[in-house]
Amino acid sequence: MSDILLASDPVFLEHRPHVGHPERESRLEVLADLPRLAALPRIPVRFAEIDELSRIHRLDYIDRVRLVAESGGGYLCPETSISPGSWSAALAAAGASIDLCHALLDGRARAGVALVRPPGHHATVDHAMGFCVFNNIALAADLAARQGRKVAVLDWDVHHGNGTQAAFWDRDDVLFLSVHQAPLYPWSGAVGDVGVRRGFGYTRNVPLGPGCRDEDYLHVMDRIFAPRLAEFGPDIVMVSAGYDAHKEDPLAGMALDSEAYRQMTLRLMAAAAGAPVLVVLEGGYDLAALRECVDLTVAALEKPEPPAAPAAEASSRVRQQVDRILETWRELGCP
Ligand SMILES: [Zn+2]
Repeated sequence: MSDILLASDPVFLEHRPHVGHPERESRLEVLADLPRLAALPRIPVRFAEIDELSRIHRLDYIDRVRLVAESGGGYLCPETSISPGSWSAALAAAGASIDLCHALLDGRARAGVALVRPPGHHATVDHAMGFCVFNNIALAADLAARQGRKVAVLDWDVHHGNGTQAAFWDRDDVLFLSVHQAPLYPWSGAVGDVGVRRGFGYTRNVPLGPGCRDEDYLHVMDRIFAPRLAEFGPDIVMVSAGYDAHKEDPLAGMALDSEAYRQMTLRLMAAAAGAPVLVVLEGGYDLAALRECVDLTVAALEKPEPPAAPAAEASSRVRQQVDRILETWRELGCP
């Protein structure tokens, strides 16, 4: 068994949104020479089958993506443009996420890292949103759940993972946890949105105002997410790993240092109690920050150690917000 498996492939550079688009090929190119990544064993990357995609996406939507790509590219929605190579890249992003999930479920590694594009967590059953084409992490989570495994998805991208939330809204086999800036695109992810029917209480959203620092996010991990993860007892944990809550990110207003991502990873590994961890790249648009954050995430996966206490106390604003969120969930009667 290798410790950590990597999915990385030049096919992901074939997705070329219009010039000047923040979700650009250089996001992966800056990761290429990270020594820590170069040392990891890689899985062969393959295209997802249409059958596999159709477990989360409607066939007419899948077909539309193919047709737009084949006709030379264009816009799937105002913020998501694709090129002819995007079809291959999107199929490969889904296939790589699914195959890393298989590898972890089969015990071939204890962690997997999917450095893929286009990203996925905004993509819904029948439309592209927010630079996302197919919902890579939802496809992986659905696969694990179909095999009878309990799946926890932690989405720390600065934007709410609306597509993933929608995919598991009424299901109790996938716990969806999201911390995100609010108000901000895609304008969803309210505290009271906790799922319905069997899924009631299996979606938990933590919207935070801008300006949050490491200690604020770690407070959310320690007070909310780590206890929820431990209580749920997942068989596999997946991370929608966007790095756009970094202080240098041009698209949002959070203020994390790169180290926050190492500390969050250590916390989720401790809470996961030995369950394998699949990290799937989502956003993150400052190239230097993205490079450092991915490196520190993998460093934490490589060397699990007790998480460090936050260097400072969380702001009173965030401590009060966390108290209010926990109170809201109690009032709603979340299990
Ligand atoms: Zn994002």
